[in-house]
Amino acid sequence: MPITSPLVRGIRAWWPRAATLLLAAAALATMSSATNEPAKGTGPWEVHEVLTGAAVPTNDVPPSLRGTYDWYLFANHCHSGYSRDSSADLAELMAGAAARGADAFSLNDHGTYEGCDDPAFQQIGDMIPICGEEWSGVQGGSDAPHAVVLNVPSTMPHMTGWPIADMVEEVHAAGGSVIANHPFMIGLGWPEDRLSPGIDGVEVWNGTGAFARNSQALAWWQEHLAEGRRITGMGGTDIHEASRNALAPCNYVLARSPNPDDIQDAVNEGRVGISKNETGPRVYLWADLDGALPYDIPMGTNIELASAADVYVRVRVTGGEGEAISLHIHDRQIWSGNVNADPWELRASARLGPQRRTLLRAELRSGPRNGLDALSNPIYVNYPDD
Ligand SMILES: [Zn+2]
Ligand SMILES: [Zn+2]
Repeated sequence: MPITSPLVRGIRAWWPRAATLLLAAAALATMSSATNEPAKGTGPWEVHEVLTGAAVPTNDVPPSLRGTYDWYLFANHCHSGYSRDSSADLAELMAGAAARGADAFSLNDHGTYEGCDDPAFQQIGDMIPICGEEWSGVQGGSDAPHAVVLNVPSTMPHMTGWPIADMVEEVHAAGGSVIANHPFMIGLGWPEDRLSPGIDGVEVWNGTGAFARNSQALAWWQEHLAEGRRITGMGGTDIHEASRNALAPCNYVLARSPNPDDIQDAVNEGRVGISKNETGPRVYLWADLDGALPYDIPMGTNIELASAADVYVRVRVTGGEGEAISLHIHDRQIWSGNVNADPWELRASARLGPQRRTLLRAELRSGPRNGLDALSNPIYVNYPDD
């Protein structure tokens, strides 16, 4: 009998709600060694196997999750002509996103939900629209923070200028989520040293260019992670023109469907990777707790250990040949290497006890300036509930 079956059932039952997997000590004690178990690392996240070519499994979704979950492309943080600083035709904007393969499209006009009531705001092909806005903290202020308000009804009150905490409470009461946008953009940065409680995500990759200062946003996200916050790193295109790519950067999310609630659930739980665009490289993280496969614990999961255990992780790269890959734990980079095949996969493990709080995430970079081409959200171990 497969020793992972209780675990698989547990995590599937658990996914839609809280993001913690409790592995009981009793379950651990019954685990036997499997024939295909990788060598155990002696330290945290020891890399012990790199697979290339035909040796890499061809699936992006583990067999146990196939048919239930799939990867969807999510165009986040899009502006139409309902924004004061855009003249983009909504129908044209959405048609462009759909043509590039977006499965879900979040409309985030500045301080208005009018676009959500436009007849053009409808499913195009397979692409599902998600209603929201881009909230501003202070009306007319040049230093106002901005946030994506994701998946709310168009009847939401106008919250422009509201204190951050009040806005977050209102959005959550309406069933939506909040993603802090471009926290280091010149003139539009986030005013708090750390994001206040309840914020669901932070835009670590804004598509508008250098003045977004994405490298600072990424470092700031890492500081939150180091302090024990579980907060989803997100891509936001911030497009204001229909001629621009609504999938640059491109969020690829593991969800039950591209319907708004399922995309939002994936965002809340951190089942999100970001690539430079819809055809760019991708990095996937999958964990397992006994090394016997199927590696079906996705990024975003918090693995809460009740006793010491070997945590195994697959780091899978597609379309990334020639890229540099780095692995990061809660407070630092621990490994780097080169991706020399497509697909490419690395396997690592860590012997971890219940007292060690850590995570693992991956970045892909390329070019003379080491530009970011893809990143994963973390797999967490022993993080507190939030
Ligand atoms: Zn903004
Ligand atoms: Zn914007």
